Amino acid sequence: MGSSLVLRCRQCGQANRIPVPRIFAGGRCGACKSPLPAPDHPVELGDDDLEGLIAEAPVPVVIDFWAPWCGPCRMIAPTLEDAARKLQGRLLVGKVNVDDNPRSAALHGARSIPLLVGFSGGSPSQRQVGALPPPALLAWLEKLAARPPGLAGPASLLPLLARVVVDHEGKIVAPLLLDPRGRWDGR
Ligand SMILES: [Zn+2]
Repeated sequence: MGSSLVLRCRQCGQANRIPVPRIFAGGRCGACKSPLPAPDHPVELGDDDLEGLIAEAPVPVVIDFWAPWCGPCRMIAPTLEDAARKLQGRLLVGKVNVDDNPRSAALHGARSIPLLVGFSGGSPSQRQVGALPPPALLAWLEKLAARPPGLAGPASLLPLLARVVVDHEGKIVAPLLLDPRGRWDGR
């Protein structure tokens, strides 16, 4: 079951439903044949289309590994929506629901969420476990968007400060952990 997204034509306003694998294929509006814009909102991705999209993306990609029950995930969601708008065409923002897509969650080591993984040139280049306050998260995403394709940085450069989860008042709270039986634990 592949996912799809809606791209609204800038010329005529027509909503065009596009299968995810065709995001980068240079599609045209079904009504007026104008080229369709890049997505300006987070795109839902899953086990069937995530790897293909990361491999083919001509711009850096950030994937938000999340779940509906995860409070810190909901806290960062508006900032990801902002970033998708502000960085339209320079960064693709994708969301993967870990409950529905266990294969992708395991492949990318999403043991605690929220987990953001930035990809550049098809390779992971930035990793962020836990929520960041909006300005710091936006700066993190802008840095990823500015990364030239194919120049993934070494994992040792990942920010070590990142491994905390902050609540809406900026207080540090425990990260969400996967329990030994492999179930998501929303502590
Ligand atoms: Zn159109």
